[in-house]
Amino acid sequence: MPSLIFRKGLDLKQAVADRLAASYHSDLVARIKNDDFAHRAGRLTVHLAREFGFCYGVDRAVDYAYQTRERFPSRRVLLTGEIIHNPHVNDQLRSMGIEFLGTEPDAIDRLHADDVVILPAFGVSVAMLQQLDARGCTLVDTTCGSVLNVWKNVRRYADGGHTSIIHGKVWHEETQATASQAVACGGRYLVVLDREQTLMVCEFIRRGGDRDAFMRRFSSAASPDFAPERDLERIGLANQTTMLMSESLEIGELLKTAMLDRYGESELAHRFQAFDTICSATQDRQDAVVALLRDKPIDLMLVIGGYNSSNTCNLARICGESRPTFHIADPDCLVSADEIRYRPVGSKAEETCRGWLPPGPVAIGLTSGASTPDNLVGAAIVRLNEFCGTPKGTPPASAVHS
Ligand code: SF4
Repeated sequence: MPSLIFRKGLDLKQAVADRLAASYHSDLVARIKNDDFAHRAGRLTVHLAREFGFCYGVDRAVDYAYQTRERFPSRRVLLTGEIIHNPHVNDQLRSMGIEFLGTEPDAIDRLHADDVVILPAFGVSVAMLQQLDARGCTLVDTTCGSVLNVWKNVRRYADGGHTSIIHGKVWHEETQATASQAVACGGRYLVVLDREQTLMVCEFIRRGGDRDAFMRRFSSAASPDFAPERDLERIGLANQTTMLMSESLEIGELLKTAMLDRYGESELAHRFQAFDTICSATQDRQDAVVALLRDKPIDLMLVIGGYNSSNTCNLARICGESRPTFHIADPDCLVSADEIRYRPVGSKAEETCRGWLPPGPVAIGLTSGASTPDNLVGAAIVRLNEFCGTPKGTPPASAVHS
């Protein structure tokens, strides 16, 4: 029997609203937002970015997960993987009895028709959806509209004979799902991570070259039977929604220029396509942190979010260009006024740093990724208060207007 799929929630928004607020809301953060996004306690000033934390897609995905538990209290509810890349949120869901589908090859085969499976905000591959459908499970699809928009364009490229060049991380679930959309429509794709990889693609477009070397570099990032001499003749741009916006735009320009050089102006429209697929929430958070760094006298930046959260890592990248930046996974990483656990920008491992908080008056900029709830931001600010001489239990500090 085919799956029953819920795509617009389960009509229980009101029923779960209080529980969601209790799990993720922060009165302190709400107050600071009301007070011009700034907060002072003793020698500490915290400036919050104007946009941070849960994006609309994550908000919706978490809401649907709570609604699912409410709607099916006695059925097994599973997630295909992390619903979003935040350990705190995933632990919350586990504590509600929501299980995670294992990564074993037969994990889907072991599902039963009365299981309920939640698909994450960044979507699942076409193959996985077909497998789940074949099991006849009830599905709750939380795939974000902005991801669906990317998929629509990738399918459009495939229909028009264009290869999708996807700016993304080939290991990320969203990029894998997006790539699968191209293949499902009989199209092709190539994933580029950054400027350096894009320049290799541009070089091949302009002058051809060593096909084997090209494929060695991109073998795990290209569709089956990818042939660069054939599949780079007509291309369309797409991106993982959480990439650095400025980098996505630059990659688009580099590829467009390469196509122009190779084929000339008259051929460009036929051979190169690009639609705006940058998610507005990602863009807003990146713009807000740029404005914060530009407009406030920030001594150092704290960026809160899962280490495997792409959008959080990109916020940290922006901050790291101009300020000492500490990307922390959660407030517990703020060990003391002397010690912090954090992941340096561009690194893959968490490190411990001593002497991170300077003495005297200090202005800390704070932002968080699209999968980080406000209660974690609030808890981090409480710790900063303690480190800077405002003991636990002291009423929240007053706001400053700068
Ligand atoms: S970051 Fe953008 S695309 Fe991803 S879930 Fe949030 S709103 Fe949707």
